[in-house]
Amino acid sequence: MTFLELAETLEQTGAESVPPYRVEQIFSWISRGALSFDRMTDLPQAWRRELAGRFSIRGSRVSGRLDDPDGTSKLRFTLTDGAVIEAVLLASEKTGPDREPGRSYTACLSTQAGCPVGCVFCKTGSLGFLRNLDTFELTDQFLALSDLVRERNGGSCRISHIVVMGMGEPLLNLAALRKALAILCDPRGFGFSKRRITISTSGIRAGILELAEQGPEAELALSLTTAREDLRRRLMPGAGENSLEDLKEALKIYQEKTGRRITLEAVLLGGINTGAGDARALAAFAKGLKAAVNLIPWNPVPGLSFGGEKIREPPAAETGRFRRLLEQEGIQVTGRYRRGRGISGACGQLAGS
Ligand code: SAH
Ligand code: SF4
Repeated sequence: MTFLELAETLEQTGAESVPPYRVEQIFSWISRGALSFDRMTDLPQAWRRELAGRFSIRGSRVSGRLDDPDGTSKLRFTLTDGAVIEAVLLASEKTGPDREPGRSYTACLSTQAGCPVGCVFCKTGSLGFLRNLDTFELTDQFLALSDLVRERNGGSCRISHIVVMGMGEPLLNLAALRKALAILCDPRGFGFSKRRITISTSGIRAGILELAEQGPEAELALSLTTAREDLRRRLMPGAGENSLEDLKEALKIYQEKTGRRITLEAVLLGGINTGAGDARALAAFAKGLKAAVNLIPWNPVPGLSFGGEKIREPPAAETGRFRRLLEQEGIQVTGRYRRGRGISGACGQLAGS
C-alpha cells in the first residue's frame, strides 16, 4: 500500500479516526524492516493486536539464498501461488562521482515471473511467461534485500541504487512498478532517491511513451542488443514488433519530455553481433540521441543457442575491438559488471533455480 492507501484502509476498518502520525509510524516501521506488528512498540497494544488480525506484512517467502565471493547475493522468492522469482544484491564499487564512502549496495529487482519477450540469449526468456508481479511482490524484494544489508553491515550501510533489470519486462508491468517505486521513494518511508533508479527495457514503444508522460521518474536503459533490424527480430522475438525507427522516435520524444540521457545496452554475443557492421549500425542508432552505450559481454547460460550454434561469450579481444570501433565513431562507451556469475546472478542468468 502507498501511504495514502494505508491511511484510507485504516480509516475504513477502524472504529475511530486515525491520526496521521499513526499512519506514519506504521509506514515507517515497515520500511525499516519490521516483520510483525508486535515489533511496533510505539503503537498501543490493542492496535497491534488488531492490525495483526487484519493485515500481513510481506507476502513473499524467501526460499533460497546464494552468496558469491565477489559480494553479490541472490535471493529466491516463492510467491503465494508457488511462482518463483529472484532478486539480486550487488555490492557497489567505490567509483564514480556519486558513490559515498563505505560500501553501498544496488538492488536488482524482477517485475515478472518469466518473460514474454523471449530473447534467445537470456535464461529468463527461455522460461516462458507466467505472470506479472504485484506491487507488494516488488517491494518485498527490496525489503528482503534490505534485511540482507542490515544483517551484513549492522545498519551502517544501505541500498543506494535500484536497477529494474531482473526477470521480466518492466514496461509490460508499468502500473505495479510505478506504485512500488512511489512507495519506495516516499520520504515517510525509505525516501529512496528517484535519480538512483534505472529501468531497463527491451524496447516497448507504448511503454516508453507512457513513461515520458506519466513516469515513474527514473533513468532509462534500452536493451538495444543490435541495431540490425532483422537480427534484432530474431534475437528478441517479442521486442521485434517495435521497429527500430519507431523505437528511436519514442526515445526522442522521451528525451524531449524528460531531458534525460539514456543508456543503450548491448549484450555482446560472440560472433553474432560484434562485427564492424554491427558497430557502425549501433553508432548510427545512437547518433541523434543523448546516449551512452553500455557493453555487456554475454554471461553464460548453458543450453542457449542461436542459428543452430551454441551462443558463446566473446573473447576479451573481440569485446575490446567492438568498443574501439564505437569510440572511433564518437560514441561514449562503458563496460558492464559480470558480478554474480558464480551464483548465476548476473544479467540474463536469473531463473529461480
Ligand atoms: N527485460 C529487461 C530487463 C531485464 S534484462 C531488458 O531486457 O532490458 C537486463 C539486461 O540483461 C538486458 O540488457 C539484457 O539484454 C541483458 N541480458 C540478457 N541475457 C543476458 C546474458 N546471458 N548475458 C548478459 N546480458 C544479458
Ligand atoms: Fe525478457 Fe529482458 Fe530476458 Fe529479454 S533480456 S527475455 S526482455 S528479461
